[in-house]
Amino acid sequence: MRRTAALIAGAGPAGSVAAIALARAGARPLLIERQRETGDPLCGGFLSWRTIDRLAGLGIDTDALGGTTIRSVRLFAGGRSAESRLPGAAMGVSRHRLDSALLAEARRAGAGVELGCAIREAAGTTLRLADGATIAGASLFLATGKHELRGHGRNTPGDGDPWLGLRIRLPATPRLERLVGDAVELHLFDRGYAGLVRQEDGGGNLCLALHKSLLVETGGGPAALFAHLAQALPDLADRIAGAPTDHPDAVAAVPYGWRAQFGVAGLFRLGDQAAVIPSLAGEGIDIALASGSAAAAAWMQGGAAEAVTYQRRFSASLRRPLAVADWLKQLCERPGLAAPGVALMHAVPALAGLFARATRVAA
Ligand SMILES: Cc1cc2nc3c(=O)[nH]c(=O)nc-3n(C[C@H](O)[C@H](O)[C@H](O)COP(=O)(O)OP(=O)(O)OC[C@H]3O[C@@H](n4cnc5c(N)ncnc54)[C@H](O)[C@@H]3O)c2cc1C
Repeated sequence: MRRTAALIAGAGPAGSVAAIALARAGARPLLIERQRETGDPLCGGFLSWRTIDRLAGLGIDTDALGGTTIRSVRLFAGGRSAESRLPGAAMGVSRHRLDSALLAEARRAGAGVELGCAIREAAGTTLRLADGATIAGASLFLATGKHELRGHGRNTPGDGDPWLGLRIRLPATPRLERLVGDAVELHLFDRGYAGLVRQEDGGGNLCLALHKSLLVETGGGPAALFAHLAQALPDLADRIAGAPTDHPDAVAAVPYGWRAQFGVAGLFRLGDQAAVIPSLAGEGIDIALASGSAAAAAWMQGGAAEAVTYQRRFSASLRRPLAVADWLKQLCERPGLAAPGVALMHAVPALAGLFARATRVAA
């Protein structure tokens, strides 16, 4: 069995940032990731002004990410629309670009990185890999994303009608540029919403978060779902016209609202393992970055035992953003509330900035 002081599971933003911070502080973390190559996970790819600042603070060259600048948020519901400026310049960028930059920085900082190693299960802070090998960490930084890792299951909320994520890409065209421009768009519909930003290549990344019951009711297949949405939402129809909708990327059972409120010595939950904020807040990546840095700092200060305090403090710092995001999610997924909400935002554009600020993680 191999042994290491700081073992990190998962090379998404949370795991890579923990690796960067630990390696820079002189620890020699080991980062284990199942993918052989950095992919482009399903994600809206919206980085808020705060996320961009946090990346810059980590020494990441955010200009080099090459994303599209996002200056405003535009909402659509029930035939109404509203647009408002964001509190700061944001970015639309693919996760492939972001995750690659963070992983490269982790390597540069001196972290050990092992790709193509799927973790089958965990027992405390020891990982058993798919090839049968085991690695024991004195501390485990769990950054495997929104789903459960065997051995460290969570009591995530289940409301009987789970949330799904779907993603299609829209080709870069002058028409898409004219329609979407430098906005992040949210198209609200019964039991869900679609978020759209243009990314580094000018193409659109359209991500849906919806209750499973809607997919079932519209026939069970994605093409029928998109056809249904196109009929109900003419502005969305304009944007997806001609795009292939029958094979979207998909993710099941997104545990929105989960928050790890208590810790266990030696186990630092990061990113979506620490909390899953509703995607419409565009704050999941910032939570990942913030948790990676905070956990590394706690570990450097007090070692494995510090996990308990880290988790409690980090959870407390997320109470308000998660509560506001959950409230907004509930408003957005109900047509009877969403349309008046958009009308209100049209009348009082400053509201969007207020909500955008209220859903950010404390620095
Ligand atoms: C529909 C949707 C849209 C979203 N849009 C946005 C947005 O626009 N902006 C935003 O800020 N956030 C958004 N989010 C949230 C954001 O994607 C997540 O919060 C973020 O990816 C969390 O980062 P992470 O590092 O915790 O996990 P992940 O990014 O999921 O990384 C986990 C890593 O662990 C690896 N892994 C998992 N299991 C194993 C295993 N068994 N063995 C080895 N490795 C493993 C995975 O391969 C992956 O590399 C969205 C989420 C959804 C569902």
